[in-house]
Amino acid sequence: MSKPELAQHDPDFSSALRTRVGPEGWKKWFTSVRHEVVEETLYLVAPSDFHIRWLRTNYQTTIDEVAAATFGPQTVIEYLITDRPDVTEEPSPAPDRLGDRAPEEAPATNRNQAPAHPPKFLSKYVFDTFVAGQSNQLALAAAKRVSEGPGQNYNPLFIYGGAGLGKTHLLHAIGHYTRTHLPTATVRYMTSENFFNEFVDGIRTRRMDSFKHRYRTIDVLLLDDIQFFEGKEQVLEEVFHTFNTLHELGHQMVLSCDRPPKDLGIADRLRSRFQWGLLADIGPPDLETRLAILRRNATDYASTPVPDEVLEFIARHVTDNIRELEGALTRVTACAALTDQKISVELARSELRGLIPDPATTPPSGPEILEVTAATYGHDLADLQGPSRVQPLATHRQIAMYLCRELTDLSLPKIGKVLGGRDHTTVMHGINKIKKLLTKDPELARQISHLSGILWKR
Ligand code: ADP
Ligand code: MG
Repeated sequence: MSKPELAQHDPDFSSALRTRVGPEGWKKWFTSVRHEVVEETLYLVAPSDFHIRWLRTNYQTTIDEVAAATFGPQTVIEYLITDRPDVTEEPSPAPDRLGDRAPEEAPATNRNQAPAHPPKFLSKYVFDTFVAGQSNQLALAAAKRVSEGPGQNYNPLFIYGGAGLGKTHLLHAIGHYTRTHLPTATVRYMTSENFFNEFVDGIRTRRMDSFKHRYRTIDVLLLDDIQFFEGKEQVLEEVFHTFNTLHELGHQMVLSCDRPPKDLGIADRLRSRFQWGLLADIGPPDLETRLAILRRNATDYASTPVPDEVLEFIARHVTDNIRELEGALTRVTACAALTDQKISVELARSELRGLIPDPATTPPSGPEILEVTAATYGHDLADLQGPSRVQPLATHRQIAMYLCRELTDLSLPKIGKVLGGRDHTTVMHGINKIKKLLTKDPELARQISHLSGILWKR
């Protein structure tokens, strides 16, 4: 056996990740996450969709980097939900908790006959959770048609559209549906990257026959993100043959791509094949669809009710990527929960500031910051600018310094000037003190987030 076919885990990955995310982040978000490495895919198994989305929103880059450093740059990361019987087709060795030590040996299983990547469908990605809208109605209708009679309607079904618009969701939904209604059919979802990796492995291990056979016996092939094949002539040749065989056999193919075939840099004969069936595009969702998606997410995943005006605020501002739309909601609800605040438009605005380009909102000025800080804590403006160092006045003055630094482009000497003519070292000291306090004082974090919310809203 030239390569492991067992799921493996790696204590190095855990400890490197732990170092990167720090003890707090680790405790909160990673102790309940397990990992499993199957060939070049790293599966992260988390307890809920919510958890997965949190990891994606807040730790994706870190996870990517640690995975690439531990397992190699070609590593593909996939997320799964714990203990969902519909997630894996075959029993696989229990993946270890990220925090656990490695057992002496991975348990032996007989997976020799199994495909290297058993089909996996995320449980959330079904037709029921897919919100219909004008921008996706053709793709959705076609996906349903194909599920009801694979190989009989549009072959291939070619779904294209920008990132985060629901292509993968639809492919999984087709997988779920056909798996449920045609239990004997072989249904296989895979990313084009995985297809490519298997192809390369087939060549390397001189097992192209088994590679070819494996694909040609698939009744429904769901191939995601085929733009990945651009410029990879050899594998395109194989895609071409696979395509022809499956098509002749009347087996269904569903392809997804971030652009239409005409814009793909591939040989004409393959491009024209891709257009044999139906081309269905998914566009950016309109406001109504965005709102419907958020409502659904809010009811299904948020632990506390989210006021409608907050959903609307998010829907109005995050417009062209549903993944970001969902991420924005996760961020706001998680921030509210972690800092014990009410979910409000104010909070959403301050949490999503980086995400929302809003030319109408100009950053507050130094004097405005001073004014709001004074009013919030019940001081006179003159006291904040004055010499007294009594507490809590002195700390509130330092909060104003910190906010000036965070929210404006003012230099340290200029901030000093706003605060009644203090020199820049005093300002720097004040800012550093608040930064330090923030790492251990959630109440202070809440107050500062509240203040910056007010300041941005003006
Ligand atoms: P793509 O593959 O096009 O980049 P995904 O299928 O990964 O996008 O979708 C991104 C996220 O948005 C997923 O969580 C998916 O469930 C969600 N999503 C996309 N379109 C819809 C929709 N119409 N209704 C509900 N959720 C959607
Ligand atoms: Mg996708």
